[in-house]
Amino acid sequence: MDLKRLNRALSVEAESGFGDLQGREQTFSQFFCGVFGQDPPADWLLDGDDRRKWQELGSRYTLYPELDLPERQHLVAETRRWLDQIRRQQEPPPPARPAPLPKPNGLSLEQPLQFLKGIGPKSAEKLAQLGLLTVRDALYYFPRDHVNYSEQVLIRQAKVGETVTLVGTIKSCTCFTSPKNKALTIFNLKMADSSGTMTLSRFYNGRQFTQRGWQESIQRQYPKGARVAASGLVKRSKFGLTLDNPQIEVLSPDLPEESPVHGRGGDPVLRSLKIGKILPIYPLTEGITADLVRKAVQLALPAVALIGDPLPQDIKRTLQLLDLPVALQQIHFPDTAEHLAQARRRLVFDEFFYLQLGLLQRRQRYREQAQAVPRYQPIQGELVDRFYQLLPFQLTAAQQRVISEILADLRDPLPMNRLVQGDVGSGKTVVAVVALLAAIQSGWQTALMAPTEVLAEQHYRKLVDWFSQLHLPVELLTGSTPAAKRRQILRQLQTGELPLVVGTHALIQPAVQFRNLGLVIIDEQHRFGVEQRAALQQKGDHPDVLTMTATPIPRTLTLALHGDLDVSQIDELPPGRKPVHTVVVRPGDRLQVVRLMEREIAQGRQVYVVLPLIEESEKLDLKSAIEEHQRLQEKVFPQFKVGLLHGRMSSNDKDAVIQAFRQRELDILVSTTVVEVGVDVPNASVMVIEHAERFGLSQLHQLRGRVGRGSEQSYCLLMTGSKGEDALRRLKVLEQSHDGFFIAEMDLRFRGPGEVMGTRQSGLPDFALASLMDDQEVLELARQAAEQLIAADPHLTQYPELQAVLKTKVSYTNRLH
Ligand code: ADP
Ligand code: MG
Repeated sequence: MDLKRLNRALSVEAESGFGDLQGREQTFSQFFCGVFGQDPPADWLLDGDDRRKWQELGSRYTLYPELDLPERQHLVAETRRWLDQIRRQQEPPPPARPAPLPKPNGLSLEQPLQFLKGIGPKSAEKLAQLGLLTVRDALYYFPRDHVNYSEQVLIRQAKVGETVTLVGTIKSCTCFTSPKNKALTIFNLKMADSSGTMTLSRFYNGRQFTQRGWQESIQRQYPKGARVAASGLVKRSKFGLTLDNPQIEVLSPDLPEESPVHGRGGDPVLRSLKIGKILPIYPLTEGITADLVRKAVQLALPAVALIGDPLPQDIKRTLQLLDLPVALQQIHFPDTAEHLAQARRRLVFDEFFYLQLGLLQRRQRYREQAQAVPRYQPIQGELVDRFYQLLPFQLTAAQQRVISEILADLRDPLPMNRLVQGDVGSGKTVVAVVALLAAIQSGWQTALMAPTEVLAEQHYRKLVDWFSQLHLPVELLTGSTPAAKRRQILRQLQTGELPLVVGTHALIQPAVQFRNLGLVIIDEQHRFGVEQRAALQQKGDHPDVLTMTATPIPRTLTLALHGDLDVSQIDELPPGRKPVHTVVVRPGDRLQVVRLMEREIAQGRQVYVVLPLIEESEKLDLKSAIEEHQRLQEKVFPQFKVGLLHGRMSSNDKDAVIQAFRQRELDILVSTTVVEVGVDVPNASVMVIEHAERFGLSQLHQLRGRVGRGSEQSYCLLMTGSKGEDALRRLKVLEQSHDGFFIAEMDLRFRGPGEVMGTRQSGLPDFALASLMDDQEVLELARQAAEQLIAADPHLTQYPELQAVLKTKVSYTNRLH
């Protein structure tokens, strides 16, 4: 039966004004009487309700010639809707149609689990410990994994590492208390099929299992000669191959020898929940058995039919996503591995989609609050042109691209909110300056905020250099700016005389007021809290905001965290940089490091020695830095000058030390991680990092970026005493790669998003299923879908159901910003 043909007939009838059109051989209504007079096609897999509908439509078409116009319209429309629904049920996702949804059986979503038949108050109490109170809770309690038991093999075919199902006869079964451990009960079952034998074991821990009565009752359940099916992961034991923690089930006696558990294309032979299927594994806590949770979910499952699906139909269709109820059913008890994958994809999509939709909607709201007035007159203008002429180098293609993205944002009457990511040394500052000048030449004031005084100072130096040639004033405002200078800066900001102020957190103090702040740039934005960023922003009326980071984070994380930001990447370094030669150094090779340092210093170069932050104690931290400084100065390099830099020093002292290092008064700088950002001493050629395993890869990459700024070969030595293979493999990534994005990606793989972003302040949402590492493609799709939806309907007025879902999710987006 061709659905398209039926639909075409319905369309033609509608277009011709419902006149019961005469075709070549028969009228429209005769055609449909013929169609519905037959049985529905078997491959439509109609359930009972749909079969009844089929018959009902058939009988109504016999009356079609008697119906008046509205009645005919109505019947045709209804038929189209129904056929459309059938078509949707049939279309791919997924290739094979999952089993039809169960009927809700009088269940409701809010029904307490306790009132389900088969779950008593005791079980309900246990389930409550997992947060499972209602039917809905159970449906949304996703398995953390599945075991595929649907693979039946002969015992001889079982291979270590595969999950298989075996079917055979029971040769013997024993259950006894371990002679060595009185609390341990051992269950052994020997089974055989035509190809061989296998002994399966289970272990029960606890006094209640040591009672002889219990043990005998178990043995009785597995009588010799009975047919049995066993599923599990094949592993090697000292008695040969066996199954790890097997699921064992005695089969009904009339099953033929070695009948397949899952007949090819046929019905499953076994009715069991456990055997021959893909079995969900749920997160459990102590005292709660897997079977209890499975049972609760199984009992709640018919209620999936009651779950509404707020996701717009066309999104589901274009992205081939399962309907939500089907996905929920299949995530728990999938028909096939393919269905499981489809179900997971749909549910992961939802997690990302609502997050993106929330973030984008918030951006939308912010933009609407902002006055949409064109604020930039000449975008290129004289200042920017003159700046380009000052540059002694050509901009890289990546810089040019990002600059044009920024200028396009500035030209747009809506405020910019853009994040620029670029590896260390990729030339973010130049890009920032172009933005600053574009704003200034249109008459706006601008501010550049950096997380540390060292960094703010460094930016200031560079900017003064360029700005003085453009005859523009610029000032530096930090916690250590002298009072008189500070007063002067505040006054000039208020009058609008000062077009650019560079500073630290000092910029967000209440006393700082601008006449017309039009552009805010925040460097190393992840070092600032949400409120701090917002505080600076609020010193203007919806100013343009440009944030920059040298800690490239993978695009997935960026989207998950900053879905409401536009992101630009400077993914190219200026030409002529020599990659820093990077080596992971084991304790036995320390002497070679000392030699290298001596050699480089003898050639007039300088060295950083960086110590990790010991988070538990700042005091210890300090102590280790002080001790290392002393050790190097007195014992190892008495002939050289060794300086010390740590976070507890006053900013004046810090500046003095950095200044001394910059002017080559120091050969070696021992430092805690303060040097991570910004310190720019091109003459330094060696970076030694102690306890490198304690740093994240991205952070190490940042530190490494402190050397290799000149044209000579530079070195980064990652010292580690760690014997952990993972730690070494992780560090080896740096030996092989200089690509900040790749390194960030690897960091994510090794440590997970929580750690990479810093667990607490990461602001990452808890995804139930989604993985920022493995589901990047789905995240991109969700992002696009959300973007298109918001573009077409900014307030989601046509999607009240989506609005309702978003309302339940606001907490996350608020927490984030
Ligand atoms: P980032 O802040 O991204 O780490 P910077 O903006 O400090 O990088 O630039 C690093 C160095 O490279 C600076 O000395 C800068 O003048 C120089 N630089 C920037 N862009 C280019 C370019 N296109 N060609 C050559 N050198 C460049
Ligand atoms: Mg920089």
